[in-house]
Amino acid sequence: SSEQKLQLVRERIRAFSDFPSPGVCFRDISPLLKDPAAFCAAIDLMEDHLRKTYSQIDVIAGLDSRGFLFGPALAQRLGIGFILIRKKGKLPGATESVSYSLEYGKAELEIQTDAVDPKQKVVIIDDLIATGGSLWAACTLLKKLNAEILECLVLIELKSLEGARKVAPYQLYSLLHYD
Ligand code: AMP
Repeated sequence: SSEQKLQLVRERIRAFSDFPSPGVCFRDISPLLKDPAAFCAAIDLMEDHLRKTYSQIDVIAGLDSRGFLFGPALAQRLGIGFILIRKKGKLPGATESVSYSLEYGKAELEIQTDAVDPKQKVVIIDDLIATGGSLWAACTLLKKLNAEILECLVLIELKSLEGARKVAPYQLYSLLHYD
């Protein structure tokens, strides 16, 4: 059942206190990736959710770098393409970029201008949403290309950081959440 799949996924997420800096509880997805049954369960749950919620999805957009672990597997299940949203300076050719602020300093994400066609329906995926800054930047890039953003999809949501508010008005869907 989907509750059993969710339990299996939950059991394969490890917490590390004070990594990479004091006060941060790092959610490590390595055990999930290492266990093919658990990884399959995570992709199953994401696929079920998307099939149930949307009649058409044209493309999955993944965030550099852990969005790249889930996005292509999910896109293959749905029989659709996957596109890259990368950290600055990694993508050749014409790009759009957006800078956003991090806890300390700034970061910049980029997308190739021809990654999506106008009006294409896109789901954006990452492993985890914390403040939502990264997903907000991804939404901004796709908006610049006139894509239709269906939702942001993550494995893990850190509720207390209120990332859902940051990405609003776009929908956020998460499989697991922590405070
Ligand atoms: P944010 O832009 O604040 O939502 O941060 C999201 C990005 O940072 C995601 O791509 C995560 O992979 C990473 N990240 C932030 N906080 C954590 C955490 N506590 N554990 C693991 N990854 C994290």
